Amino acid sequence: MIDSLDGVKLDGLRYEDIRIVYATHGEERSVYEEQEDGGKRLVKFDYRKGYLTPIGDIDRDVWQQIAEALIMSSYEGWITDSLQEWYTVHPPNGSGVDMSWQLALKAHIHRDYDRPGWIYYIPWNRLYRPAALQGKLFPTVVAPCCGVAGETTAELLRMERRELFGYCPCCFKRSSLRLISDPGNSRRALLREDDGEAA
Ligand SMILES: [Zn+2]
Repeated sequence: MIDSLDGVKLDGLRYEDIRIVYATHGEERSVYEEQEDGGKRLVKFDYRKGYLTPIGDIDRDVWQQIAEALIMSSYEGWITDSLQEWYTVHPPNGSGVDMSWQLALKAHIHRDYDRPGWIYYIPWNRLYRPAALQGKLFPTVVAPCCGVAGETTAELLRMERRELFGYCPCCFKRSSLRLISDPGNSRRALLREDDGEAA
């Protein structure tokens, strides 16, 4: 268990060393509040919350501090800032609290922006790092929810019973899709995949 920065050697640590394999929950512990009469009142149960990573189970606050330190020393703060800006404008469903910084740190440490399988690969790169997409061909699709055509990646497309599924290029919800153009011919490969699964 890594519950403080003491003993964590930041020198030589790489992003992949603190990659999150899964979130961990420790044992339940009771939290008491001091009362005016000197007594104590049980206010809540709490858990140690951590992340299992290649270097061990790291407390979530400590993980955040390590991630921030690694990003600082890599001079890549602008990437986290732009990811946070992205998640502020496009908050994932269901999170009422502002998690944009935590989401940005995770996406940065995992280098999601380099993976065409990341839902925001095209829009984030178009906005913040257009050179990364230069010369690449992408399928254009349209989803019934928004009816707005846009690019997606072959990695995000799936054929299920000869129907195309992926993410709406406008609102990023999972949806059935209509293919408008496919310069990289990813649909042919997907159809073959679909046939293979059905056989
Ligand atoms: Zn949509």
